[in-house]
Amino acid sequence: MNNMVMPAKSMVALPELKLLIDNRWVDSNSGRTFATINPSSGEEICQVAEADHADVDRAVSAARRAFDRGPWRTMRASERGRLLFRLADLIERNADQLARLEALDNGKAVSVARVVDVAKTVACYRYFGGWADKVHGKTIPIDGEYLCYTRHEPIGVVGQIIPWNFPMLMMAWKLAPAIAMGNTVVLKPAEQTPLSALRIAELIMEAGFPEGVINVLPGFGPTAGAAIAGHMDVDKVAFTGSTEVGRLVMEAAAKSNLKPVTLELGGKSPNIIFEDVDVDEAVEGAHMGLFSNQGQSCCAGSRVFVEETVYSKFVEKSIVRARQRVVGDPFDPATELGPLVDQAQLDRVMSYIDAGRDQGAMLACGGERLGERGYFVQPTVFA
Ligand code: ADP
Repeated sequence: MNNMVMPAKSMVALPELKLLIDNRWVDSNSGRTFATINPSSGEEICQVAEADHADVDRAVSAARRAFDRGPWRTMRASERGRLLFRLADLIERNADQLARLEALDNGKAVSVARVVDVAKTVACYRYFGGWADKVHGKTIPIDGEYLCYTRHEPIGVVGQIIPWNFPMLMMAWKLAPAIAMGNTVVLKPAEQTPLSALRIAELIMEAGFPEGVINVLPGFGPTAGAAIAGHMDVDKVAFTGSTEVGRLVMEAAAKSNLKPVTLELGGKSPNIIFEDVDVDEAVEGAHMGLFSNQGQSCCAGSRVFVEETVYSKFVEKSIVRARQRVVGDPFDPATELGPLVDQAQLDRVMSYIDAGRDQGAMLACGGERLGERGYFVQPTVFA
């Protein structure tokens, strides 16, 4: 950690702001950096090294060496598991700082980041640490004098591209299983939220992962992300993000080495409320489903179907609950809803609100940007 910044209510120590390649902190080949923005203010937090094609090449070579020739390949599975447990312990020990970094860079309430993002990240590394030495194959009875069995082996160098809505948790979901199985990784965090990934990269070094096993490259999608997806020496790519980009990732995989692809893309997830509910509980549940993480989840319940007999009551109580929701500084413990992650997301949400109005839905409450600083939006209900 080399730097401190001061958001509204809290001091946050910044991590290394470079690329992690082969267990070394390096500048990008081009020397370029990019700004990461505090969504609560719209101001720059700091500059971060910007990876592009050349840096992806370097990282893939390091990951390939680590996979083919490093100690990783012959390390006992239980030892890989222990490294993941150690990383989980280090994350837990640094929970408060990580929660503050997430609040600073993503805008989510620090209280939420602590009990959701950080806690679930720790649990994820522990869960997959436990799996490392428990992945079994099968023995298959066949006719004749043969022993027939299957064995799970690591696939090799895995490229991982993650979004900004749950930065450190998305990193854990990708990294932990790949590492538990003995793969090596080149991971690109989202350009909006590189900071927690860089802090976790520091902890990865501290935990003692061998050189080249985990490489972390902040940068943009069409450059660094596309280079990972289209790389001839990346054996598999895992992506979470928008459907449009998921298509591009699959296309890049198909046009290069036909690497297998895992995609986790957007969704539309209506809640259905029947008349026999406790309406207060249903409102609370539906609001949690939508407003948690500022509505920025692949499974956000952005539509609610309500049975006619309880519809008016549901809408009425929904308006009251939306108006009560505390929107504000993510560092304030009372805050329930922080800002959206960036200007693009603010513009997108405002365009959805306009579309709702234009298409004849009744705006029941909210519908406006809140203040002029940062990317805050009023909790909004259409009926
Ligand atoms: P969202 O619309 O939710 O911001 P995106 O799909 O644009 O999600 O971004 C998710 C991740 O995909 C980010 O890390 C982003 O940098 C990356 N990405 C964007 N475009 C590309 C691309 N053409 N190829 C590979 N990765 C990309």
